[in-house]
Amino acid sequence: MSDSKEPAAGTATTPTHFIRNRIKSDLDEGKHNGAVRTRFPPQPNGFLHVGHVRSIWLNFSTAAENGGTCNLRFDDTNPLKEEQQYINAIKEDIEWLGYSWSKECYTSSYFEDFWALAVKLIEKGLAYVCDLSADEVKQTRGTLKEPGKESPYRGRSVQENLQLFEAMRRGDFPDGSKTLRAKIDMASGNINLRDPALYRIRHASHHQTGDLWCVYPMYDWAHGLSDAVEDITHSLCTLEFQDHRPLYEWLLEALDHPNRPQQIEFARLNLSYTVTSKRKLRMLVEKEKVRGWDDPRMPTVRGLRRRGVPAAALIAFCDRLGVSKKDTVIDYGILEDEIRSHLNEHASRRFCVENPLRVTITNWSEDEVQEIKAPLHPQDPSFGERTLKMARHLWIDADDFMEDAPKKFFRLAPGREVRLRYGYVIKCEEVVKDETGKVVELMCTCDKETLGAKPEGRKVKGVIHWLADCHKQKAQLRVYDRLFKQENPAAADSDEEFLAALNPDSLVENDQAFVEPLSGLGVGDAFQFERIGYFATDADSTADGPVFNRVVTLRDSWSQT
Ligand code: ATP
Ligand code: MG
Repeated sequence: MSDSKEPAAGTATTPTHFIRNRIKSDLDEGKHNGAVRTRFPPQPNGFLHVGHVRSIWLNFSTAAENGGTCNLRFDDTNPLKEEQQYINAIKEDIEWLGYSWSKECYTSSYFEDFWALAVKLIEKGLAYVCDLSADEVKQTRGTLKEPGKESPYRGRSVQENLQLFEAMRRGDFPDGSKTLRAKIDMASGNINLRDPALYRIRHASHHQTGDLWCVYPMYDWAHGLSDAVEDITHSLCTLEFQDHRPLYEWLLEALDHPNRPQQIEFARLNLSYTVTSKRKLRMLVEKEKVRGWDDPRMPTVRGLRRRGVPAAALIAFCDRLGVSKKDTVIDYGILEDEIRSHLNEHASRRFCVENPLRVTITNWSEDEVQEIKAPLHPQDPSFGERTLKMARHLWIDADDFMEDAPKKFFRLAPGREVRLRYGYVIKCEEVVKDETGKVVELMCTCDKETLGAKPEGRKVKGVIHWLADCHKQKAQLRVYDRLFKQENPAAADSDEEFLAALNPDSLVENDQAFVEPLSGLGVGDAFQFERIGYFATDADSTADGPVFNRVVTLRDSWSQT
């Protein structure tokens, strides 16, 4: 079956995709003895982002669907950029996504095996120590149209190469002075096959191997060999490695390796209005454009999690998109749609008044407080009920009142009626203003016959949320919007242009809001604040000051703009 075949129609819940089809046909043909072993290979040099979630989902779900295994492999070949904190964070994020790895592996723990394989390659006359500098290698590599030039060191004898390679390991040479290169073909149409470097000298301490090594394997060498050492059957990676596949296969063939993993490439996940480049995300953190890697506006797993995005919604999003061979930018709205549909089902309902306007019910006495039962989820009775309190002093959202309301405004206006959700019908009798003319209070009456019953002979169309003054808690709302105002900020030509594409209104903090008193709040607990949006409790919450992050709006407001 061809890689580029359009995905066939799948089941209603999890559509199929070309990798799933390809693996099925491998299994049907009895390849790899009917086994499926995958791996997720992050470089521990940053935090995971939503793009990585696709790779995690693909590797772990492919293994699970076929009764196979999936390793977590830290691809730690670059001692300069990697840190233990990233290893810990990556593990935590994968666990949060709901996956467990079969084995935790480190490319660095294969360094000794790799060394032996490199010696084998030299002995076969297929690798040599080269003294050209990085610049000279670049200059002699050739172009797509012209062949490269052979290195003057290409003819070194096996014996000399073995001695020099040993001396490289001993630390006899400075950084950058020598490399070990595969001896393939300087005229190959694929530049990756023009005697690629396999080892370089780096006198640097490594977070796993300490000072044991001063030569480190290059990506192409380490990547394929790690797959081979772990006996991976399907090495799933992103499209940029397609041109490296011939080298991947050449190395396994040259070493006559008993294990033959198959590399299959898929398109990266790109999302509109954000970026999935570690470098660019780091820039946002370092330039303090966001509050850290876990800022709820960041497309990092930590950011999404802090925002209150459920792991299940991210997985459903990946399932929905599947994978293809074509690079595209996915509409951010599709992710929001999955989040919304998950929270609609799973989040309990509460009231929150974002911009409070005082209401006094003139025919309700000061000391009268009535408890009113309201569902925690109108469509799912298994959530149970909550208690609201009706009293003389209430708060409603300022937006739900209009002084000169047009006919079609079905909320509160002078002389008009509205229903308090789950409560009574009230009528606005008088508008109280301060000296600046600002409306500060509404004097209303309540029709006491209307609790759970339609008002006799009147049409009341509007229903609004509300809170009693004696039954409210102050809260901070952090209302997030998209991090970038431009659809494809990654396409910016310069860092300045990229930073200029940031949405200045991506965070609006509201310290005025009131919410229903919520006891025993846990960080990340998600609610639908009725008529307002989905919110989740932030870690900055304190006992008397809860902080809520807006996870997503109730409706897609971007598709209409
Ligand atoms: P860099 O190349 O800057 O180190 P990276 O994003 O490739 O960044 P890795 O740690 O190498 O980072 O990624 C781990 C795995 O996740 C790789 O297999 C990579 O192909 C995959 N991956 C990275 N970004 C995406 C993305 N946007 N969509 C799908 N898979 C991705
Ligand atoms: Mg990478």
